Amino acid sequence: MKHINNNSDRKFIKDILDKSLDLHVLNLTEVSALIDLDDREVWEEVYDAANRVKEKVYGKRVVLFAPLYLSNECMNDCLYCGFRTGNKNARRKSLTINEAVQEAEFLSGKGYRRLLLVASEHTKRTGVEYFEKVADAIYSNTDIRILHANTAPMSVRNFKKLKASGIGVYQCFQETYHIPSYRYLHPAGTKADYASRLGVMDRAIEAGFEDVGMGVLLGLYDWRWEVGALIAHSRRLINKYGFGPHTLSVPRLQPAEGSEVDFDTFRVSDEDLKKIVAIYRLALPYVGVVISTRERADLRDALLSIGASQISAGSRTSPWGYIEKGDTEQFEVGDSRSLEEVISKLADLGMIPSLCTACYREGRSGEQFRTLAQNEKMKKFCNENALLSLKEYIEDNCSDDEKENLEKLLKDEISKSSNGLIEKMKLVAQGKRDIHT
Ligand code: SAM
Ligand code: SF4
Repeated sequence: MKHINNNSDRKFIKDILDKSLDLHVLNLTEVSALIDLDDREVWEEVYDAANRVKEKVYGKRVVLFAPLYLSNECMNDCLYCGFRTGNKNARRKSLTINEAVQEAEFLSGKGYRRLLLVASEHTKRTGVEYFEKVADAIYSNTDIRILHANTAPMSVRNFKKLKASGIGVYQCFQETYHIPSYRYLHPAGTKADYASRLGVMDRAIEAGFEDVGMGVLLGLYDWRWEVGALIAHSRRLINKYGFGPHTLSVPRLQPAEGSEVDFDTFRVSDEDLKKIVAIYRLALPYVGVVISTRERADLRDALLSIGASQISAGSRTSPWGYIEKGDTEQFEVGDSRSLEEVISKLADLGMIPSLCTACYREGRSGEQFRTLAQNEKMKKFCNENALLSLKEYIEDNCSDDEKENLEKLLKDEISKSSNGLIEKMKLVAQGKRDIHT
């Protein structure tokens, strides 16, 4: 449908946007029509609808987190990654449990309450037992309230252990659904097995993970094909389990030491990335769309107005990267703003920065989360909990320069909320922590 030049095409796109605004999952014909759309004027309508869908589901809150890289010792050879075995110049490191706690403590001191543990794949270094110890030590010794994990696929048995250690979301990217490209890009190690990677979400869900995070590494193959395949995969999970991915990430290929991937063949432009974010939002209205610091600050700010709902901030992509400079990075970071700078910018954009972890504490996951989101009940939880988390941040972590700006945002938002929220805010001001609904 490249250009919309007749009324029936225009009506079809309008029907798709209306369906999504009613918070229904799109079918693959509808997704293909959006992927194929090449009409700037109509894309503006699509972006507007994506933003409205996001606000219907989540209100104005944007969730913030940081990645904590545990290891860059890897037995795989993914041609695009700085951690690959083929990168002979890499300086390798796996954090000790104590070092992982120190990094988490550093981040909790900045105000983060949610971390994504990231690790390369190494049977001796980063197996499930290591994750169990890291999670136990971080939960016991720091103010971090929820850990997610982006690590190598596991068996159902090991996923059960990972889940029992308190990991909230298990995240893993297919990288590419295109089999010939996958085989070329993953020549060695366990990751070379395409079918095993494709089944990872089934194994995680069967082990009890109701919240799984999915994605493709944009830039490895034609994004149009990959986006269609990822949504098809998500729909299959919804049909089978009653819920699909909790989050979809949009990692875009970055330069990395030792990378052997040609950047230009399947380059995803900024404009393409905007389309992809909007398509994910519209296709799966209740999904969390996650933007990492791979992207530049100005682009990340723009993506938040067209469907993105979670962003990392102040990230380092090497183990020991927060406390010291760290060893080899996985890839170059495009947005080096601190958590405080990102929070301040979100407030200026009229959004509510959120350090909330309430859903994990209240057990709102999987199908229950989807039903609440679809009935537009999540946004009340999200807005109030975001404001409570922001109040904590102001009390405990914020610099004096930013306090006034954030207090004003709180005051404006509280005036629109219920009386109960004022009482809860008072409790936070008195020193009570982790108050949420
Ligand atoms: N090792 C695990 C794996 O490969 O699934 C998980 C951690 S890996 C460090 C996290 C993700 O980083 C990968 O799934 C890949 O999509 C992404 N990544 C790797 N190299 C990248 C690059 N050069 N630019 C952007 N993202 C990259
Ligand atoms: Fe290792 Fe993951 Fe990097 Fe592949 S993407 S080399 S598995 S860390």
